[in-house]
Amino acid sequence: MAKIGINIATGSLQQAEMIVGIDLGTTNSLVAIIHPETKMPIALKEHGTSSLVPSIVHFDEYGNASVGEVAKQYLESEPQNTIFSAKRLMGKSYNDVKNNANFFTYKVIDDNTDSLVKVQVGNQFYSPIELSSFILKELKQRAEHILKTPVTKAVITVPAYFNDAQRQATRDAGKLAGLDVLRIVNEPTAASLAYGLGLRMDEEKTIAVYDLGGGTFDVSILRITNGIFEVLSTNGDTYLGGDDFDRLIIQHWLKEKGMTEEGLHSNKQLAQTLRLIAEEAKKQLSTQEVFEMNNPLFATDNSQQTYDLRLTTYDFNALIQPLVDKTITSCVNALKDAALTTADIDTIVMVGGSTRVPAVKNAVSAFFGKPVNDTVNPDEVVALGAAVQADILAGNNKDFLLLDITPLSLGLETMGGLMDVLIPRNSKIPTKVGRQYTTYVDGQGSMRISVFQGERDLVKDNRKLAEFNLTNIPGMPAGLPKVEVNFLINADGILVVTAKELRSGVQQSIEVKPQYGLTDKQVEQMLMDSITHAKDDIQIRALVEARTEGEQILVVTEKFLTKNTTLITKEEMLATAQAMQALQLALTMEDKNLIHTKTEELNEITRPFAERAMDEAISSAMKGQNILG
Ligand code: ADP
Ligand code: MG
Repeated sequence: MAKIGINIATGSLQQAEMIVGIDLGTTNSLVAIIHPETKMPIALKEHGTSSLVPSIVHFDEYGNASVGEVAKQYLESEPQNTIFSAKRLMGKSYNDVKNNANFFTYKVIDDNTDSLVKVQVGNQFYSPIELSSFILKELKQRAEHILKTPVTKAVITVPAYFNDAQRQATRDAGKLAGLDVLRIVNEPTAASLAYGLGLRMDEEKTIAVYDLGGGTFDVSILRITNGIFEVLSTNGDTYLGGDDFDRLIIQHWLKEKGMTEEGLHSNKQLAQTLRLIAEEAKKQLSTQEVFEMNNPLFATDNSQQTYDLRLTTYDFNALIQPLVDKTITSCVNALKDAALTTADIDTIVMVGGSTRVPAVKNAVSAFFGKPVNDTVNPDEVVALGAAVQADILAGNNKDFLLLDITPLSLGLETMGGLMDVLIPRNSKIPTKVGRQYTTYVDGQGSMRISVFQGERDLVKDNRKLAEFNLTNIPGMPAGLPKVEVNFLINADGILVVTAKELRSGVQQSIEVKPQYGLTDKQVEQMLMDSITHAKDDIQIRALVEARTEGEQILVVTEKFLTKNTTLITKEEMLATAQAMQALQLALTMEDKNLIHTKTEELNEITRPFAERAMDEAISSAMKGQNILG
């Protein structure tokens, strides 16, 4: 057995490197590590408590945040300042979430529909990154308290379907929480690792990972070859999970007692209690045939009579059957997209608290025609796998070959001197990433492409690698050109940056050696700086983003006003001018919340104009058109 040193001064375990695995879930989050003695992954928990931390942030009247079980108590009573499911907002614009806006009981700001969403609590504005960072900070603190050692490095998991922006947002949240995020790992990959899959080099397997959590369902088909995981397909429903089971139970009971759901809306206390009882009933039914409870709270206003709440597994199964069927349809589709049949699946891995429901397990097993893997705790399996991945990155797992990776992030300078990361650090090479950009000025004929390396939010704090101008872009209105920038790192570590305007085809490229003249010590220093400055950096970024957004709104409004004077009354013109002035003034100050507020106010005034102009545009377009009948 390996010897473990103990730091006498702090009483902490002295480890080469403590890298934790974190499952940042929609409903629950948790931390896991590889136990220094047993070498087995374990979820961290305080004695006698759960390892799960509800992914909920509550803000009190002074703006102080609390996280987890404490915050959960305010879900029904203070819905405006109790933020749940922040993960759903990560890397999203309002356009992305507007169809599900009703889902959120707190205020999701919709000022500039293409910019990233923010959440307003009182007069404070929070980005989903900040909200997630509160959860990660709590996890970090808990881990430090339990391990009695500082925790600064982590592997964090994300759903396999997360795009670039969502992954970057998750990295930023980690950074803001004071964590050096060594790698972002797909949740189904982590779950497979926890079952020891993919740890043998000669292994070739096709795996189905079925993940039914609190509010989301996804199924992923993975292929492992030579220790490398490839996602063949994903499918699912981002609004289906165990919470829906709870809701069905509540509806069932209400119907039984002749009560309506409206009655619940007016009685927050009852709603909260009932939700907790329904979840408890569901959990009990995972191991027993009937749930019974005599609850005095569940009485109608005019009678003090108590009601027995009762539910059998039989009735519960009937209630959830349609939802379970839906998940199986997703499995069918995932297989179809991967061009496979159930016979091609070697292993089925069950993930998420809701897979404890026997009816769910049976349905999945029946569909794939073989028993499922469910021996590892489904709430913890993703975090446990993240810990396995962390251990590999720490170099503790010597059988595992570490592939070539990029030591620092590579990106471009965007508006306001911000760093836009295209290839995050620790990415495997060779790799290729592309992203589209557009112009900000009408008729802009060239675009400067500045390539930077480093972890800071402002490019001025990073290392400039190269710069060139993409010229001869044909004159177009701002926002119309589509400039695609590609970063390609080949196996020798050479970076080729190509920029191409897609409408005209003009293109240009440049070659750089990112590692040229960079010592390990410098890399380390740059990493350290990014963590120590994380908070300031993210604040500056938020300010710059707020300003860019505010400036854009001003330009658009001005353009609109000069073109559409006839559509607007004098009073409206005056109100708009005032709001524009107020925003202009706010832009000169260092207060992002003020800028957001003033941007919102201007938006409120101009929103109806846009609709009017739209009607006008449509009717004038119709006038000149020959309509085929
Ligand atoms: P997420 O991945 O969305 O963060 P989890 O995997 O933690 O979610 O799953 C949370 C869901 O699992 C909740 O709806 C919870 O009620 C449900 N759950 C937890 N334990 C059980 C159980 N024993 N039986 C049925 N459902 C359960
Ligand atoms: Mg999960």
